[in-house]
Amino acid sequence: HLRANWSSDESDDDSDGSGAECLYRVVLLGDHGVGKSSLANIFAGIQEKEAHDPTGAVVLEDTYEKTMTVDGEETTLIVMDTWENEKQEEDQTWVQDYCMQVGNAYVIVYSITDRTSFESASELRIQLRRIRQAENIPIILVGNKSDLVRSREVAVEEGRACAVVFDCKFIETSASLHHNVHELFEGIVRQIRLRRDSKET
Ligand code: GDP
Ligand code: MG
Repeated sequence: HLRANWSSDESDDDSDGSGAECLYRVVLLGDHGVGKSSLANIFAGIQEKEAHDPTGAVVLEDTYEKTMTVDGEETTLIVMDTWENEKQEEDQTWVQDYCMQVGNAYVIVYSITDRTSFESASELRIQLRRIRQAENIPIILVGNKSDLVRSREVAVEEGRACAVVFDCKFIETSASLHHNVHELFEGIVRQIRLRRDSKET
């Protein structure tokens, strides 16, 4: 249930014929170091020690697919941790444009210990709204590292208020403690379904 390499998405062979309409791309956005990859790994069920090969090199992939059962219904999420890469600036811009276009849902992550990342989150929200204007895409604002209470720079209320202004959902998580991470991905599934169901009727 784990597949990497986003370029193969087009050739997805949906052999059982049932999953196609329940496959959604979820793109993680946010500054470097806020915990995007940590959240993606928990989603994929990867332990931190498995993310390194014996030489210590990081062998993380950046796209993960998993089928989740939420409220008795199956939905497959493709989580894309592709926002940052080590390639050249030119490629980076291309990748980021691509990320802004392809998501069926977005998770905008900041760290509660880093106010700059909170400000970046707002900018990303504005950028997303501009690029995907006409669409009502699910967006969840995530304040990660909630375990680091003593270094907190962004209050829960600020995160919540920001989400109200930006008309999106909000949750605080701790990737380190696995706190609220499954709730986050379940929340995305529910947001996607709400929009799907309101289109049908
Ligand atoms: P990314 O750059 O957004 O992908 O961030 P990473 O997932 O690589 O995390 C950056 C650093 O923050 C790593 O050292 C993580 O172990 C740490 N980190 C991520 N999430 C948490 C968290 O919830 N709590 C704490 N204390 N550290 C975290
Ligand atoms: Mg990362």
